[in-house]
Amino acid sequence: MKSHYRVVVIGGGVVGASVLYHLAKFGWSDVCLLERSVLTAGSSWHAAGGIHALNADPNMAALQAYTIDLLPEIECESGQNIGLHMTGGLTLAGTPERWEWLQSAYRVFQSIGIEDCELLTPQQAQERCPIMSTDGILGAMWADREGYVDTTGTVHAYAGAAKMRGAQVFEHTKVERLTQTAEGWIVHTDKGDIACEHVVNAAGLWAKQVGRMAGVELSVSPLKHHYLITDTIPEVAACDFEMPMTVDLEGFTYMRQDQKGILIGIYEVQHEHWAMDGAPWNYGMELFAEDLDRIENELVLGFSRYPAAENAGIKTWVNGAFTFSPDGNPLVGPVPGKRGYWSACAVMAGFLQGGGVGKTLAEWMIHGEPEADAWCMDVARYGRWAENKRYIRETTGQFYSRRFVMTYPNEQLPAGRPLKRAPAYSDMDAAGAVWGTSWDMEVPLYFAPDGFKETPTLKRSNAHPIVAEECRAVREAVGLLDISAFSRYEVSGPRAEAWLDRLMASKLPKPGRAKLAPMLAPNGRLKGDLTVFNWGDGTFWIMGSYYLRAWHMRWFDDHLEEGVAVRDLGEEVCGFSLSGPNSRAVIERLTEGDIAALPFMGVGEFDIGMIRARVARMSVCGELGYEINCRYGDHITLRRALLEAGADHGIREIGFNALLSLRLEKSFGIWSAEFTQGYTPGETGMDRWIDWEKGDFIGREAALAERDGNGPAKRLVTLEIDAEGADASGFEPVWAGEARIGFVTSGGYGHTTGKSLAMALVDAAHAAPGTKLSVHVVGVERAATVIPPSPYDPEGRAMRGLPAAEPA
Ligand SMILES: Cc1cc2nc3c(=O)[nH]c(=O)nc-3n(C[C@H](O)[C@H](O)[C@H](O)COP(=O)(O)OP(=O)(O)OC[C@H]3O[C@@H](n4cnc5c(N)ncnc54)[C@H](O)[C@@H]3O)c2cc1C
Repeated sequence: MKSHYRVVVIGGGVVGASVLYHLAKFGWSDVCLLERSVLTAGSSWHAAGGIHALNADPNMAALQAYTIDLLPEIECESGQNIGLHMTGGLTLAGTPERWEWLQSAYRVFQSIGIEDCELLTPQQAQERCPIMSTDGILGAMWADREGYVDTTGTVHAYAGAAKMRGAQVFEHTKVERLTQTAEGWIVHTDKGDIACEHVVNAAGLWAKQVGRMAGVELSVSPLKHHYLITDTIPEVAACDFEMPMTVDLEGFTYMRQDQKGILIGIYEVQHEHWAMDGAPWNYGMELFAEDLDRIENELVLGFSRYPAAENAGIKTWVNGAFTFSPDGNPLVGPVPGKRGYWSACAVMAGFLQGGGVGKTLAEWMIHGEPEADAWCMDVARYGRWAENKRYIRETTGQFYSRRFVMTYPNEQLPAGRPLKRAPAYSDMDAAGAVWGTSWDMEVPLYFAPDGFKETPTLKRSNAHPIVAEECRAVREAVGLLDISAFSRYEVSGPRAEAWLDRLMASKLPKPGRAKLAPMLAPNGRLKGDLTVFNWGDGTFWIMGSYYLRAWHMRWFDDHLEEGVAVRDLGEEVCGFSLSGPNSRAVIERLTEGDIAALPFMGVGEFDIGMIRARVARMSVCGELGYEINCRYGDHITLRRALLEAGADHGIREIGFNALLSLRLEKSFGIWSAEFTQGYTPGETGMDRWIDWEKGDFIGREAALAERDGNGPAKRLVTLEIDAEGADASGFEPVWAGEARIGFVTSGGYGHTTGKSLAMALVDAAHAAPGTKLSVHVVGVERAATVIPPSPYDPEGRAMRGLPAAEPA
C-alpha cells in the first residue's frame, strides 16, 4: 500500500469495485480500493444477483441497460466467471391499469433505445415460463436482456479487471477516520494513513458511518429483504430451457431459476428498517432469521403464482439488508460542501445499477461532468432537510413497500410530508389547495371544492375541469399563484457582474431589467435555464427551479471567486405571481410607485400594500404578469392584499397544474423535461439566448463547435396530438412512419387552445412545422403534427400587455 493515491475508494462491494474499474478504464490507474473485510462482505455476497430491465424512471432504466451490456465485457476482460444466465425476463401485469402502464412503459423503453422487448399475452408468457400460473394476468412484457449473475464472481470480475488496468485492492484494511486537507483527504486506516485527492464512499451498509467520518449525513438507510430458494422442482428439472427472471408486480415477488429449483424474492409490504445509523462494525457476513409472519401474504401470492413450488421444500432462506435513499435511486457524485468527497451509496440494486453508477462517477471525477444526465442519482438532488431520520425512515419505507406498487403520475404519496410550508399554506389550504411537493416544499397543484378527491390515473383526471377553469381565469382575468417554490440566489460583491458574465452564456441584463440566461457546463451541455435580475445596485438575483437548489449551489460554490458572494435566499424570500390581462389593474391598486411604467422584463422595488416587495414584470403563463417577491413573514399579508384588490377583477387562485398547461401553450420549456444536463443549447433552442459576441463564458468552445458544425441532430419542437382522454407526459416515442425519430419531453392539455400538446426532441429532418408524425400516448399510437412554437399568442402580445391574437 502506498502512502498516496489519486483516488481511494472505500468499500469492496459491487459498487466500489465498479467505481474502481471505471476509473482505471478511463485512464486513472493511481487508484486503490480499501475493504475492511473481504470483497463482497456487505450486501453484495448474499444478493439474488437478478438483472431486470424495467424501471419506472427512464434515466435509471438507461443506466441499468448499460450495466447489463457491461457484464459480459467485464467477464471477458477479467477472465473471472460471473455465472451470467441471460434467461430473458417477464414483467407481469395483473390489473387493467397495470397492463395499460406496462404497454406505455414498453413504448418508453423504445424511446430510450431498449429495443429487445415485446408485449405478450398471458398464454405467450406462460410458454416462456411454464411453471407460472396465468391466474389474474392480463399481459406481460418480455425483455431479452434479463437474467442473473453470480454475485461474488461479478464483484471479483470488476476488481480483477480494475487490477489488470493498474488499480490496487487491499482487503482487511478498515478506514477508521478521514481528515480533509488543502490537497484532498487523509484516509486513516488500521494499516496506516493514505493521502489522496478524492475519496469515494462506496461503503454500502456502512455508508452512513463513512459519511459521518467526513461530517456528511447521507439520506440512506438499510432495510431487510427476503428471498427463498426451493429444492428441485420436477417441472423445472424437466424443462429444456431455463425459467426467465419473472417479476409479478401485483404479487410483490420476483422469481428466477436456481439450479433445478427456483428463487423467489419478496418486496415486503410490512417493511423493516435495520441499523439506520449504519451496520455495526462487527457485522460480518451474516443473515437475519426469516420473519414469516411479516411476509405471509406475499408468500401466499408467490406460491400461487408458481404452484409447482408448493410441493418442493425450501432449501435456503436469505434475509439480508441493503440500502435505500428516499426515492430509491442511488446517491452519486460530489457531496456539496466537501471538495473531493464523493458518494457512491444507496445503490439498491448493485448488480443491475452498479455498472452505470461506476461509469457516471468516474466520468464525473475525471472530466468534471458525467456524459449523460445524472440528475436521477445525483447526491445533490436532496438538501440538508433530507438528513432527518424520520424523513429517511418514512420515505425509504414508503419506497420499499411500494417497490412493485404502481404510482400514477397524478398521485401524491404521503411519506415525509408535509415538511416545509409557505407561510400562507394554511390560508391556501382553507381555500381548497390540493398539494404536491417540490423538494421539501408543499406546492399548490390546484384549488378544489370541499370534498373533492382526484382519481389516480394515467389519463386526464377528474381534476381536468378544475384546471381548465384556473387556466381560463389567467387568460381572461387574473390568476394568483404561490411562487415560494421558485429558487432565488443573491449574487453580490465587487466582482459579481464579471463572475455572472462568465457563468452565464447570455448577455447580462441592464440595471432594472431581467434576462433569460442559459448556463452551460464546459462540455457545452445545459446546466441551468435561469433568469438573472439586475437590481441596479450591484446586486443580482438568479432565479430558477426550486428543487435544484443544492445542485445549483454546488455549481456556484465550485466556481466561486474572490470578490463574489452567492447566497441562497430559499429560506428568506417567497412570493406570489399575478398573471393575466387584469394583473396590472390589481397591482396598481396596491402600489404607490409607478408600476404601470415597469416594462416587460423590468424589475424594481415597490410598495405592495404595506409590503416592501421586489417585483419583476414577467409571467411563465405568457400573459401580462408580475412576480412579487417578499420576505417570508410578509407572505400571508401579501396574499390577502392581492386577493382583496383582485376581487372585482375576477382574481382566482391557481396551482402549478394550470401553470404547466399554460406554459405548454407558449412552448416554454422547463427543467427536467425540455432542458436537462444531457441536452445542448442548439437542440433545445436555448442557443437563441447565447451572446456569441461577449468574451469567454463556461461552455463557449463546445457551444461554438455545435453552432459551427453540422448543427444539432435533434431539435425541440411543439406537437399537436390527436389524442383522446389522455395526453403525452414524457419519454413517449415519436414516429415518422415506422421510424422512431424522437421522444416527447413533456406533454399535456392546452385548455385555451383546446389541444393536446407536447414538446419533443426529434431528428432535425422531421422538425419543420406541418410534418406529420405519430406518438404513443398511454400505449396507443396517435397522429401528431409539428406545429409552430407557441400555439397561444405566438407573437407574445399578451406578455407585453397587448390583447393576444385569437388562437389559431
Ligand atoms: C436479500 C437481498 C437480495 C438482493 N438481490 C439483488 C438482486 O437480485 N439484484 C441486485 O442488483 N441487487 C440485489 N440486492 C442488492 C445488492 O445486494 C446491493 O445493491 C449491493 O450489494 C450494494 O453494493 P455496495 O457495494 O453498495 O454495498 P456493500 O455490498 O454493502 O459493500 C460495501 C462494502 O464496504 C465495506 N466497508 C464498509 N465500511 C468500510 C470501511 N470503513 N473501510 C473499509 N471497507 C468498508 C464493507 O465491508 C462492504 O464490503 C439484494 C440485496 C439483498 C439484501
